[in-house]
Amino acid sequence: MRDFQYSVPKDLQAAVGMRSQAEAQFVAGGTGLIDLMKLEVENPATLVDVNRLPLADIVETHDGLRIGAMVRNSTLAYHPLVLQRYPLLSEAILSGASAQLRNMATVGGNLMQRTRCTYFRDVHEACNKRNPGSGCAAADGFHRMHAILGTSEQCFATHPSDMCVALLCLDAVVEVQGDGRRRIPLEDFHVAPGQTPNIETTLQHDEIITAVEIPHPKGQRISRYRKVRDRASYEFALVSVAAAFEISNNTILNPRIAFGGVATKPWRAHGVEKVLNGARAATDTFRAAAAAAVEGAIPRRDNRFKVELLKRTLTRTLADLTGVKQ
Ligand code: SF4
Repeated sequence: MRDFQYSVPKDLQAAVGMRSQAEAQFVAGGTGLIDLMKLEVENPATLVDVNRLPLADIVETHDGLRIGAMVRNSTLAYHPLVLQRYPLLSEAILSGASAQLRNMATVGGNLMQRTRCTYFRDVHEACNKRNPGSGCAAADGFHRMHAILGTSEQCFATHPSDMCVALLCLDAVVEVQGDGRRRIPLEDFHVAPGQTPNIETTLQHDEIITAVEIPHPKGQRISRYRKVRDRASYEFALVSVAAAFEISNNTILNPRIAFGGVATKPWRAHGVEKVLNGARAATDTFRAAAAAAVEGAIPRRDNRFKVELLKRTLTRTLADLTGVKQ
């Protein structure tokens, strides 16, 4: 691991100022960054420790729930308002990592976590994300866990977060502070790799995430986070589906559907929502939704199974939520 300076800012403004140095990085729980530093994938000259900033509150506001960026994943998952109004979020968080990691990992860090692509984490391998222009060792290598949606020739690594998939489904907005304050809908926060896979978010270098806001749920919503993985715990998703909607007279209304484990960023499934909105809760509707889910998918040699797995996981989730027998 390369030597680094360690700084503790006295307030938010000081933190932003420290980060504007070229090779400074924020550290909170350290559950992602420190691993990458040990692997020399990340080599910050300065670590700016933001653990003492006053960003660890969960507050009910006029518009919804405001979750500070330093709130730990466990705290959020077990918060009474989350359990009561946004159970989907709790399910997603508790399906990720281990209890020990969730006790340390923060909401802001979860938004910024980086792919687990094996080749990204090995500095001896070609990786356009880590070293732009060097190639993509995963293309001819092991890519069973990789993405089928939002991919490019440059990179097709999956985004690893469960929490972000649930937050997408809840119309979350990210609040960031730099020179000024701005709000970014979560869907616009992460970016697909395109020609620049090294750029993963729209956060600027001298900005810090201060909070995530979730609006009040509209109507009587039912929801579910379903995660399919190789083993029952401490494993990333092969496919995950977050679904939330109202149901009235057997009709699906205002659906929000998002996917994890299959895309290069937390994936909002607008095509699926279009099929479902105003449609009858029935097998033929779910079949049409499943077809829409994989529109534009680009599977490769080892991850073709994700096309069918995504369709089945979505269908099963919709059937369970609506009580339609398959
Ligand atoms: Fe790197 Fe992306 Fe290729 Fe993985 S898939 S080796 S992260 S460029």
